[in-house]
Amino acid sequence: VGERPASRRRESAHVGHHVDRMESMPPGKKRALVTGAGGFIGHHLVSYLRRQGYWVRGADLRHPEFRPTEADEFVLADLREPGVAEKVVEGVDEVYSLAADMGGMGFISANHATIMKNNSLIDLNTLEAARKARVNRFFYASSACVYPAYRQNITEVVGLREEDAYPAAPEDGYGWEKLNTEHLCSYYREEYGLPVRVARLHNVYGPYCTYDGGREKSPAALARKAALAEPGGRMEIWGDGMQTRSYCYVDDCVEGIHRLTRSDFPGPVNLGTERLIAINDLARMLLEIAGKPGVTLEHRPGPQGVRGRNSDNALLRAELGWEPSTPLETGMAATYHWIRSDIERRAGTVQAASEIVRVGDPGA
Ligand code: NAD
Repeated sequence: VGERPASRRRESAHVGHHVDRMESMPPGKKRALVTGAGGFIGHHLVSYLRRQGYWVRGADLRHPEFRPTEADEFVLADLREPGVAEKVVEGVDEVYSLAADMGGMGFISANHATIMKNNSLIDLNTLEAARKARVNRFFYASSACVYPAYRQNITEVVGLREEDAYPAAPEDGYGWEKLNTEHLCSYYREEYGLPVRVARLHNVYGPYCTYDGGREKSPAALARKAALAEPGGRMEIWGDGMQTRSYCYVDDCVEGIHRLTRSDFPGPVNLGTERLIAINDLARMLLEIAGKPGVTLEHRPGPQGVRGRNSDNALLRAELGWEPSTPLETGMAATYHWIRSDIERRAGTVQAASEIVRVGDPGA
């Protein structure tokens, strides 16, 4: 990487207003655009691609929440605008399309129109911009939410194979949009020759993720609850906790995204793990990691999503000769320790601020 001072490297431009500040790109390096680079997976992918020697532009509505981006250039951009998508795609060889309006079950199940409208606009604009710019590769992040509920209504599910997406009955709003864009991607490949790669991501988790506020996913929410639980106290679980999932560590996810994008296989292909675990068992694993095994699980009504979901990785193994391998215990420990330290950091910030107030308080 042509080293420039970190402060300059992390400058951001607002497309439309300051597009002239988008920096010139070094010749001889592969250049990638990551959309959704302010989000959880996107900001990890930016770091991964830089380590692979890419020049990387990140684009998002916002900067990463928990640590500075490692992108060579970060552009604040609303991809619902076609002209903005064209600007951010300018000059890159590969596009990694991860931008999406999304969140945990609570958010996804209550905002169908907003999610479908925003994500359709983002995806169509990014694809069309990539076609016009004739990029060498286009990666699209689809989701396990494209699979029909009727294959996920028991806890002891068999892994979902790619063809199980049909007859189609995906998750409302979010899932339908993902399935529609999978088709759009394959039409762009067939009709325009755009080299598209599509992966269906399954429950990605890891450090530097949203862990509160309503958009957090189950591993982050459970890790937060485990960190905050009183030893010997209670921990709240939505539903009966028997619902099952498989989880993919974020380092494996970004490696899989890159491997698929470099491969000749267009997808769609599952990108997840085959280790099925009940939410109750995941909660107990996190309490064990937290050193609070005496905490009791308390079940409350709440949105739960499908009853059981697992990935079948046969196609992934056949096409890439690879699959995610980080043990769940290892990934969950890393996630838990980061969330706990961030909760402590925030608490420290609040305490420091209240000390400042006390110092200035004339009555003190
Ligand atoms: P995230 O919410 O952390 O990141 C998405 C980013 O997109 C956010 O930073 C958001 O600001 C940005 N964005 C939203 N609207 C935008 C707009 N109009 N213009 C530009 N940027 C915009 O989500 P994530 O977990 O990092 O997921 C990344 C991708 O992977 C998404 O497409 C998601 O649907 C897909 N996916 C994720 C999971 C998972 O478990 N996290 C599972 C399946 C699929």
